[in-house]
Amino acid sequence: MGNKGDKISRRGVLGKVTQGFAVLGFGGFLWGGALRDFSRADLVLRPPGALPEADFQKACIKCGQCVVACPYDSLVVAAPGDGVPNGTPHFIARDIPCYMCTDYPCIEECPSEALTVDMVTSDGKASINNAKMGLAVIHKESCIAYWGIQCDACYRACPLIGEAITLELEQNEQTKKHANIKPVVNSDACTGCGICEHVCVVEKAAIRVLPREIATGEVGAHYLKSWDESDENRIRSIKEKKESNGDIHSTLDYLNNLDGLIDE
Ligand code: SF4
Ligand code: SF4
Ligand code: SF4
Repeated sequence: MGNKGDKISRRGVLGKVTQGFAVLGFGGFLWGGALRDFSRADLVLRPPGALPEADFQKACIKCGQCVVACPYDSLVVAAPGDGVPNGTPHFIARDIPCYMCTDYPCIEECPSEALTVDMVTSDGKASINNAKMGLAVIHKESCIAYWGIQCDACYRACPLIGEAITLELEQNEQTKKHANIKPVVNSDACTGCGICEHVCVVEKAAIRVLPREIATGEVGAHYLKSWDESDENRIRSIKEKKESNGDIHSTLDYLNNLDGLIDE
């Protein structure tokens, strides 16, 4: 069953429909201006095992079985006016996060494969630790640990302690004697469960979970890590492609023109 906490009594789907969906106030984020361009539907957090959002919306038959199966009442059904596709399940991390049940009953109960074990399977092994519900992002200006005040509530609450959140030491710029101990999220390990957001001690959580499509950036083809084997393979495959087209120039040429080469 779950990793943490007492089991909360189950309530019916209708009861959950009435749960309010507080508008997520992202104005204070580093990229708050950019986030204003997103609708609430763009910021929705789906249960573990959910297909990519567009596919999820097509596959989900809005039966609410995942919602009823959740022992922590984490999942709510979107109601009219929520700004989230009506009848679909989601969770609001600050209210009740996903407690990452090791037997993921929400996925098991889904009859339509909108939630599927495949989405939490990596290297042939299914585990809730492979879930990617979202990605936790820290707003440093409102995290008191970044001020130099001792706080590691999110770090300690994280089910993947020491993996999804690690602590970094940095000299306190004010005193020059003490160290600030700052939480840092590691995107490879973070499942987006939202427990960190739920426990954050400040008034409006300084750590928030966002859908990965919004929280993550994308480098594009122009930037290469010479020390990264996968990037070397990428260059090699571009070069081979170019050679097979009988039009290979110098290495410098194709590095300078990656866009064109890739588009061909
Ligand atoms: S894995 Fe999360 S959403 Fe699914 S049943 Fe458990 S607490 Fe609920
Ligand atoms: S960092 Fe937060 S969202 Fe990510 S796994 Fe840990 S508690 Fe969950
Ligand atoms: S619980 Fe909140 S304030 Fe405390 S270290 Fe984590 S993000 Fe910062």
